[in-house]
Amino acid sequence: MTTTEKLLDLREKQKRHFESGSTLPISQRKKVLRKLLEIIEAHQADIEHALFLDLGKSSFEAVATEIGYVRKEIKSFLKNLEAWTAPIKVNTPILITGPASGKIVYQPKGNVLIISPWNYPFQLVMAPLAGALAAGNTAVIKPSEFSSNTEKLIAKIIRANFDESVVAVVTGGVEETQALLQLPWDHIFFTGSTKVGKIVMRAAAEHLSPVTLELGGKSPTVIAADANIKLAAKRIAWGKFINAGQTCIAPDYVMVHQSVRSKFRDELDKNILAFFGSNPVESSFYGKIISERHFERLQEMMPEKELANKAERYIPPTFIELSINDAHTSMDEEIFGPILPIITYNDNQEVFEFIKKRPRPLALYVFCSNRNLQKRFETETHSGGLVFNDVIMHIANPELPFGGIGESGMGSYHGKFSIECFSHKKPVHKASTSIDIPLRYPPYKDWAKKLVNWLF
Ligand code: NAD
Repeated sequence: MTTTEKLLDLREKQKRHFESGSTLPISQRKKVLRKLLEIIEAHQADIEHALFLDLGKSSFEAVATEIGYVRKEIKSFLKNLEAWTAPIKVNTPILITGPASGKIVYQPKGNVLIISPWNYPFQLVMAPLAGALAAGNTAVIKPSEFSSNTEKLIAKIIRANFDESVVAVVTGGVEETQALLQLPWDHIFFTGSTKVGKIVMRAAAEHLSPVTLELGGKSPTVIAADANIKLAAKRIAWGKFINAGQTCIAPDYVMVHQSVRSKFRDELDKNILAFFGSNPVESSFYGKIISERHFERLQEMMPEKELANKAERYIPPTFIELSINDAHTSMDEEIFGPILPIITYNDNQEVFEFIKKRPRPLALYVFCSNRNLQKRFETETHSGGLVFNDVIMHIANPELPFGGIGESGMGSYHGKFSIECFSHKKPVHKASTSIDIPLRYPPYKDWAKKLVNWLF
């Protein structure tokens, strides 16, 4: 069988399984989720090890940003599934529709394809997978080939524990993903770059498959003159350098008011030293760059290239001081590594113009105390998420949807928003047969038109 034939066969298997109704009962969904939780718990040490091999992730980061995060997500589905999937009753305009009832039913879409990147290679497969299963779907997952240790482990534990009619893993790269994208999925959930997001959406258009695109881009961070600089520097030093800067919502660049620039820079240096010591390559809390290609791309942006270490795939925490009109390669594309341009500005208006003329980012971080300025950011800028006085932490609140806008993506997920993402919200209108109002039927009388005019 060719790859395409094998995938077609898999898709047919999942289609038959979904159509049998087996994925629908809440009890069955919980059973599958519990099993997923169990195997994650049973393999926690292996997952930590794979993340260490792929990205040099510390055990703390592996738990906080990947394994623990997913466990919590699954537990919240187990706890809230009935409430989040319950039909929602709505009012009915009886004078217009006649006697009837209305409700919105959350119906699983069917067979879902999940394509994931390498930077949080466990979480970004498992969190959408848990959402798809909680909503009552089957899923085919395609982990990233670049985080190969995590990819292999996911394939091994999923294949050993799930029938492929419910959850299947397809491994491989561009060729396999392109073959998957030829098939008619009921939903495609893609996390990755904006460039590949466009390829996914083009392929999805062929079958009119709905898509969620969780993409990337340059997330700006603004530090106003009235910000708490100590705290801003500490939080930014954490959020920028966690996972060696390979985080889709890492602060990509900082815009700092000129009056606080030097204090901010001093504080950043102090925090880097406190977090990773004087030689971060030796720190077990500082990650490595995923591949040689990305190492070389990042090294190219560094003013002091000799500080990078290819054998260790190590790029040190690097700051690039710029003024608002300076051009630099680090400002051409998403950095996705531990390099932070720091742009000095004088006036708030400059900041709004700078941000608004660039693509809408996945996250926008603003450190400031002034409520009027906060309000301006809320209403005048567009971004997937907006955070005041912190970075990244919005992703940790399961009550908030996570997703982008414009070039940073479309759709959102996490918690009950995953149920929304992977369900069709079907309107169900149930009309009474006991009364039939004649108004709508021709031949139309003058009085009927007057009444309609009045009703609407
Ligand atoms: P990528 O787009 O290169 O790859 C993502 C997936 O697409 C992989 O599974 C890969 O095999 C597949 N793929 C790659 N090229 C393809 C092609 N030509 N045709 C079909 N499939 C293809 O992204 P990446 O390098 O793995 O991840 C980094 C990007 O992901 C960054 O831009 C980052 O911001 C973004 N990201 C976004 C989020 C989010 O939640 N919004 C999270 C993590 C990463």
